[in-house]
Amino acid sequence: MSDKYLEIANSTIGKKLLAAVGLPDPVSLLREDAEQPHKLTGQILLGSSQDAVFAKSISAFVTAAGAALCNDSMEGSGHLIFDASGISSAKQSAELYSFFNKHLTSVKNSGRIIIIGHKPCSLDDREHAAIQRGLLGFVKSVAKEIGRKGATANLVFIDKGGDQALEAPVRFLLSAGSAFMNAQVLTVAAPVADMAADWVKPLSGKTVLVTGAARGIGLAISQILARDGAEVIGVDVPQSQDELTAVMSAIGGLSLPLDITDNDAPDRLRNFCTAHSSALHAVVHNAGVTRDKTLSRMSAHQWDLLMEINLGAVQRINNALLETRLLDNGGKIIGVASISGIAGNVGQTNYAFSKAAIIGVIDALAAPCALRGITVNGVAPGFIETQMTAAIPFVTRQMGRRLCSLGQGGLPVDVAEVIGFFLSPQAAGINGNMVRVCGQSLLGA
Ligand code: NAD
Repeated sequence: MSDKYLEIANSTIGKKLLAAVGLPDPVSLLREDAEQPHKLTGQILLGSSQDAVFAKSISAFVTAAGAALCNDSMEGSGHLIFDASGISSAKQSAELYSFFNKHLTSVKNSGRIIIIGHKPCSLDDREHAAIQRGLLGFVKSVAKEIGRKGATANLVFIDKGGDQALEAPVRFLLSAGSAFMNAQVLTVAAPVADMAADWVKPLSGKTVLVTGAARGIGLAISQILARDGAEVIGVDVPQSQDELTAVMSAIGGLSLPLDITDNDAPDRLRNFCTAHSSALHAVVHNAGVTRDKTLSRMSAHQWDLLMEINLGAVQRINNALLETRLLDNGGKIIGVASISGIAGNVGQTNYAFSKAAIIGVIDALAAPCALRGITVNGVAPGFIETQMTAAIPFVTRQMGRRLCSLGQGGLPVDVAEVIGFFLSPQAAGINGNMVRVCGQSLLGA
């Protein structure tokens, strides 16, 4: 569904009109170029605090990736990276202030700010750990200041051994693919599997299972994963077989019409994958529904049906796949939660329960799966323009779109790009992460 307000705000007359009456004028976000995805564009200014430990390697890999890196100042606009890992006292935080006070105005439309720090609990020095935690408040506030320009700010916390796997999160956050991911923290630890892969087609030769693939976010996920080289096995309800087949034949994928709540669904899925290939690179649990009603009016059927689709089926499919070695040594499990599961929402007790529990599934599986070389991560989309949100009443829909720092709803592709990043072999140091893809929605922030 198109956002007319955004279209008006990006027309010459509309921009003037909105400025004259003092209304916000959200900026159209830059997305990945279909012809040249993952290409780093724009200048990057890299700064660091005293005793910072990651700037040297960031400089090396960003330069090797072909980006235009500046070390002192930047002509015109671009992206800012600041390695704040050395900041260990209140006094020293002035180094963060000085860098951004001087350079913030050079971050313009779709510009990026990335701050790098130590994961606080990975540090033995308590004062250093406490000060590093301060970076989160800084990033969230700076993201609110630059959001009206369509620019984002995110934080990368590095856990023990995570320096080996830092390149993928930095490259992703610099890219146009992270357009709607704002004010988030990615925690990177030692990689749990081999990271060797191509940066343009990271999923070449990999098979990925996507549920709810016939439309909306699942359709976009399938397309982005296919763009990145994956062979997609798309699953959706038998009633959507025609749409599913059309989507899969357009991207060279395989269709598996199936209701994931059927008793035999986990076995059928697993058997289909095993018959097709000896390894499954990933499962993306995207299928989900809403059945909104205030709690006293909600029927038991509305609760039970939703819980089976959004949560029960996800757990049963994970169990069936993890009983085999299909995902071992580099496999990935992705959960799709929602900011409703973080903030709660009127009329969505069932949905919020199921989505908060998806975050619980990720928390519970991350550590044991890492021992088998499998990473488990998730996304919590905010307001995304799909049939699901098109059904929201007009006024609530407008509020949902505007109540974020970027002043607009996201597109299905924005969620898909974050999932594509999680699935790339280079992201083997990212485990147990749940990021909101919500443009820094004010809900639950
Ligand atoms: P959608 O309704 O457009 O698509 C969901 C797909 O899942 C449909 O193709 C549907 O047929 C399929 N599906 C539903 N039940 C199924 C079942 N039992 N078996 C197999 N397939 C089934 O929804 P969407 O907006 O694309 O949402 C995708 C995911 O993102 C969902 O998990 C949703 O909760 C989550 N999400 C969406 C938004 C948003 O703003 N659209 C926000 C937060 C979270």
